[in-house]
Amino acid sequence: MTAKILDGKSIAQRIKDGLKAEIEVLKKEGSPLKLAAVQVGESEASGVYTRAQKKNCEKLGIDYELTILDEGLGQKEIIEHIQKLNQDDSVTGIILQLPLPQGISAVEVQSKIDVGKDVEGVNPANLGWITYGKPRLIPCTVAAVMELIKAAGVDLYGKEAVMVGHSDIVGKPVALLLLNKFATTSVCHIATGERGNLAEYVRKAELLIVAVGKANLVKGEWIKEGAIVIDVGINRVEGKILGDVEFEEAKERAGWITPVPGGVGPVTTAMLLRNTVMAARKEEKENG
Ligand code: NAD
Repeated sequence: MTAKILDGKSIAQRIKDGLKAEIEVLKKEGSPLKLAAVQVGESEASGVYTRAQKKNCEKLGIDYELTILDEGLGQKEIIEHIQKLNQDDSVTGIILQLPLPQGISAVEVQSKIDVGKDVEGVNPANLGWITYGKPRLIPCTVAAVMELIKAAGVDLYGKEAVMVGHSDIVGKPVALLLLNKFATTSVCHIATGERGNLAEYVRKAELLIVAVGKANLVKGEWIKEGAIVIDVGINRVEGKILGDVEFEEAKERAGWITPVPGGVGPVTTAMLLRNTVMAARKEEKENG
């Protein structure tokens, strides 16, 4: 079997095209639509992200405003800036660029972002809504994983799903969303790998999602015939970008597979835009 490719670029384009009509409605109503990005200190990496955010927003007609706060500011001052944005009615979405300088707790600052403007879904309240089966604004990568699964057109009820990686903003929320859909969900992490049990879990996965950050960790021969494989990993190896799954080998066994690059990444970008529009519409924000 050769897998069908879950082409993130075309899925992302379809989502962005779909948002245009909603944005037009907001504009006609005179409703504000502005994403406010907050960065603390300057770094080359965050510059790449914020330039991309600005370009993507502008293409759709979403206002974008970046504030770069002084690197020497303390947590209290950063939170004060977030609270100013919370109160500013012209701002409909807030994004906090990571990493923050040492000594500042990202979770503490994220917990102060207005839940309705939290377009990255990182406020503990928005993550908590996932637990209760009522997802609202959810992390963009998590939303991208769910969108790619949807594109494969599979009913998750009773399916064997395996999530490799248990980070707070990818692995854990994805696992909860799969549980909400009644997939029988296993979560693997570093200790699974250290015990040598990873292959055993992967081999039974009808749906496999991998978010670890280790190139080619998951061997192609472990993939179950016909499985849906979503590879979140981004690894730079000798000038190339690789995922966490051995793509060429896995493609011969899987039913559907995401490439890296060109899979989860572009859909994640589209999900930030979708979350931004959802936040601006201020209506019931069921997601995932
Ligand atoms: P993280 O570092 O927070 O978590 C890594 C996870 O992998 C942990 O749960 C850890 O226990 C697990 N792990 C480590 N070694 C393992 C092993 N040998 N076997 C099994 N599990 C193991 O990572 P994260 O923030 O969730 O990111 C994971 C990857 O996804 C990274 O490559 C990151 O760059 C990428 N990522 C991509 C996007 C995107 O938009 N495409 C977004 C976020 C993260």
